[in-house]
Amino acid sequence: MKKIYLDNAATTPIRQEVIDEMIKVMQSEYGNPSSTHSIGRSAKAIIETSRKTIAKYLHCNAQEIVFTSTATEATNWILRSAVKDFGVKRIITSKVEHHATLYTVKALQEEFGVAVEFVNVSHDGTLDYAQLSVLLSNDVKTIVSLMHVNNETGVVNDIQRIGMMCHENKALFHCDTVQSIGKTDLNLQDLAVDFLVASAHKFHGPKGIGFAFVRKNLVLQPMLFGGEQEKGWRAGTESVHQIAGIAKAIEFSLENLEEERKVITALKDYCFQQLKASFSDATVNGSNTFYNILNVLLPFSPEKTAMILFNLDMKGIAVSRGSACQSGSVKPSHVLAEMLDDAELKKPSLRISFSHYNTKEEIDCMISALKEI
Ligand code: PLP
Repeated sequence: MKKIYLDNAATTPIRQEVIDEMIKVMQSEYGNPSSTHSIGRSAKAIIETSRKTIAKYLHCNAQEIVFTSTATEATNWILRSAVKDFGVKRIITSKVEHHATLYTVKALQEEFGVAVEFVNVSHDGTLDYAQLSVLLSNDVKTIVSLMHVNNETGVVNDIQRIGMMCHENKALFHCDTVQSIGKTDLNLQDLAVDFLVASAHKFHGPKGIGFAFVRKNLVLQPMLFGGEQEKGWRAGTESVHQIAGIAKAIEFSLENLEEERKVITALKDYCFQQLKASFSDATVNGSNTFYNILNVLLPFSPEKTAMILFNLDMKGIAVSRGSACQSGSVKPSHVLAEMLDDAELKKPSLRISFSHYNTKEEIDCMISALKEI
């Protein structure tokens, strides 16, 4: 059975060029990057070249990129360090953030008694910027943690505006850019963000490698102890092939951005038109959404609702109901629970997320499968 993968917000297939690069590095660069001999130095050079490549595409300094295993790790480290080392007494976030942020914030609240305030989100997923402004006017040492693109709905936050508001009020700004890095141009010279996080597997790179951007002059304390790797901030022998892989992934994604964005935008438009043609009452969850995520509420009866993902899966079609970690769970999505009313939450919402590898034929197959339920 041919598989149809429409769950690219959960993870993406690795590009062949990235696989080739990682194999090359695994075969020839086996040195420990901390060794001072030439074999070690050669491995170290791969790491530093990769760091420079990422910095070039994000318009920042290479020293501002810190490799981590995942974005989750980077977010845990940054928020914890902000509370422990920068004396942050309050975190402002929203209830539609990824659990990597929400669970970390909850743990910090319990452990350090840090105050937590949530920015309201409207029915279409838009943040209440006026409320954020009021919250920020309170003179307490604050970090704001708000994402760029929501992983369930694709709603795009205005991070330039948020960054400016934070800096006018002397608050730090941590941004979860997991869904946007590699899929849009970000210029960190212009963007008033202090920290951001990324994971390679969301932009056709390998799993288990990500990075944090930490604005220069912000000195964090180590998340792990035991070595000098990553400025002593993240001890442990580096995964050289993964690091080479993330750099190749960002390079290919951003070099091909215009072309691939065009393909993906057309697929998303086509998908929505076809869904509307088959289910005229279908509506989109969220407004101002990113070009690769379509979250649709379908007018299905309760008995059909439970069957949707199962039936699609039986036909080899992968889509998601909520974020990746929630697919398969019976709990409603915490993101949609913030946005929709009870009647809407009883109906099924599907997250369909595209990559340039998808085709219109795959979308036709998915819609035919939905019609058969
Ligand atoms: N933040 C967002 C918006 C995500 O979509 C994800 C992954 O689903 C994460 C954070 C966590 O990424 P990772 O599991 O690679 O750490």
